[in-house]
This record gives sequence, C-alpha cells and structure tokens, in this order.
Amino acid sequence: MHSQELCPCGSNLTYAACCGVYHQSQTFPPTAEKLMHSRYTAYCLKNIEYLWLTTHPCTRRPNLKNEISIWANSVDKWLNLTIIKVLQGGAEDKIGKVEFRATYLTHDEQHSLHELSRFVRHSGHWTYKDGIIGE
Ligand SMILES: [Zn+2]
Repeated sequence: MHSQELCPCGSNLTYAACCGVYHQSQTFPPTAEKLMHSRYTAYCLKNIEYLWLTTHPCTRRPNLKNEISIWANSVDKWLNLTIIKVLQGGAEDKIGKVEFRATYLTHDEQHSLHELSRFVRHSGHWTYKDGIIGE
C-alpha cells in the first residue's frame, strides 16, 4: 500500500507514520495495544512474515506460518478494528491483554472476530502469545 494512505488500523495517521514504522522494523511497538494495531494491519496487507516474527517463540508451532497464511488469505477484506479493553501492556509492563473486535468480509459476507489476546514481552519487545475467541 502507498505509505501516505491512511493506516488500516483506524488511527487516522498515514501508514508510513503508523504501523508502517513497525513493519519496516524501524522500531518496535512500545505497547501491547500498538502491537495489536500493527498485527491487524499486517493481516490487512497479508504480511505473514511480520505476523510470524511478532508471535512469541513458544507459540510458533511448526505449521504456524502456514496457518497464518491460510487464515490471512481466507479474508477478502478487513473492515475495521475496535479495541474494547486494554489491561496492562504498557511501556513498563511484561504482560498485557487486549480485547478487540475486528470485522471483515469473506465471500461478500460480513463477519466479526472478538478476541481477548495475550501479549508477553520477549527479549524486551512485545509479542503475541495467544488469544481466547469470544462471541
Ligand atoms: Zn496503524
């Protein structure tokens, strides 16, 4: 996507000034919420490598990269991300939880994903550990 387009995560910043900074490894997301945003945008852009790299090493099952790719490619279009609740995950924290709802289109049907994601700091940087899918 063009770097001056609005970032898909809904921040109202350009992609270059928002999640693009993390995707290009210029810096790491300082909070779990920012990592959540950048991972949502990575799904929008089908950036499988970024999703893999920001998954906690303990969660990297042998087939995970393939699973991420299948899931990312099964979505035709991501519509929006709503952060519902953030617990910890701040600059001084080691763990964090982010509850969100993401809506997307698959075969012209709108779906939504409601998840409580757990994030853990690894080697000083936020990583995605796992999530509990809600209704
Ligand atoms: Zn963004």
